[in-house]
Amino acid sequence: MSRQLVLASQNPKKSKELDALLRPLGWQVRPLSDFTGESPVEDASTFVENALIKARHAARLSGLPAIADDSGLEVDALGGAPGVYSARYAGEPSDDAANNRKLLDALAGLPPERRGARFVCALALLRHADDPVPVIAIGTWSGQILAAPRGQGGFGYDPLFLVPELEGRSAAELSADEKAQHSHRGGALRNLANQLGNDSFLSK
Ligand code: IMP
Repeated sequence: MSRQLVLASQNPKKSKELDALLRPLGWQVRPLSDFTGESPVEDASTFVENALIKARHAARLSGLPAIADDSGLEVDALGGAPGVYSARYAGEPSDDAANNRKLLDALAGLPPERRGARFVCALALLRHADDPVPVIAIGTWSGQILAAPRGQGGFGYDPLFLVPELEGRSAAELSADEKAQHSHRGGALRNLANQLGNDSFLSK
């Protein structure tokens, strides 16, 4: 029997990835748009706190358990930027192509060995809006920023993210399954699933 969970994301591509990962765990995922078009203000300085803000907002407005993802790209040569500001690196509204151009400009002329970066994903799952014991899971994915975009898949910074362990393809050149196996989001979800197995409410 599947249980309902609201997914606190307005990003359709990210939602699709999370939906594909959560279904096999027995969750029927409902989009936040079934309940509201409003997004909360994500003004915290950590991925974990922003994920909690989004999950709490979704649980409160839906009355269902809620899961939220907050993710971003940390670039070594930029001291960890754009980090929690990844979606709006080039300003608002969020624009993937403008963000990628700004990142390429910021790293112009740097050799491959100085282009290290990692994706980070924090997931927060709340049984209800006032849940005092949220389940938190983190996943990371290390790679390198390319000097030019490659590939048509994925979203966000994927065309600029070289994945060394997959024959040097960019994240936008991976199938959805390959990305799920290796990505920060896939890793965080596997970590979350392990924790759910030990949780009497969530593993029912
Ligand atoms: P959020 O929706 O506020 O968590 O912002 C996440 C931002 O980080 C996205 O808009 C992307 O720019 C970037 N990002 C997160 N995960 C990925 C990914 O899997 N591939 C490419 N970019 C990502």
